[in-house]
Amino acid sequence: MLLMLGGLAGAAALTYGEYASRASHSQLYGRSFVGLRRSSRLLALTYDDGPDPRNTPALMDVLSRHSVRATFFFLGCNVAKEPQLAREVARAGHVIANHTYHHPRLIFCTPARVRTELLECERILSGEVGEHSRLWRPPYGRRLPHVMRAAEKVGLEAIMWSVNPRDWSLRTASEVEKRVLRCARGGDVILMHDGGGDRLHTIEATDRLIGRYKNEGYQFVTVPEMMKANGSHTAQEETSKKESSRETKPVV
Ligand SMILES: [Zn+2]
Repeated sequence: MLLMLGGLAGAAALTYGEYASRASHSQLYGRSFVGLRRSSRLLALTYDDGPDPRNTPALMDVLSRHSVRATFFFLGCNVAKEPQLAREVARAGHVIANHTYHHPRLIFCTPARVRTELLECERILSGEVGEHSRLWRPPYGRRLPHVMRAAEKVGLEAIMWSVNPRDWSLRTASEVEKRVLRCARGGDVILMHDGGGDRLHTIEATDRLIGRYKNEGYQFVTVPEMMKANGSHTAQEETSKKESSRETKPVV
């Protein structure tokens, strides 16, 4: 009986550990910023996996038309392919951040490999873009203690999200729009993608969402601006917000 109880406790601990490594709002393995209180009227649009010549220029046009600045989590390997585009995004006033060099599943990497992935991305961002943020986002949103410790040692601050429409899995702008509308209530960091495939539906959804939320009095800011805003706090205070209701399956 005791053995059985021990086994169940072990399984529960494993399941919770697995959950904590995936859940965007979890602070179990290290501090991550996920947004502000719901009373906030600020929203932060974030885009992962670029720069991508198929999507990023069109996305920049939409953001420019609305005078909105976003936060881009670039992959070092894509900056190497599109350095001019990366510079254009930065020159347009958007915030540039680190999403590793090759987009590996860091939880399966050694601490040394995690460090290399982050430093190589930092190196190319510094070389091609110049001054940029000290923010990073783990690929697939997966974290473990050795991953978070390596990033801290490199001097990077982890940014997760509070709204994930899983835009990469959807085919139309309306689907992306609906999922964000269902979840974003204010103070949200919204995760979308401008790389990894055709993201034209994400770009069209961005256009519609900015129009809708601006009409309702929301203001779009970059992640650093959101972090500086009054009442800023991390998800350590956030667990009571029942984030799971705003979170679809966490994949970046
Ligand atoms: Zn990614």
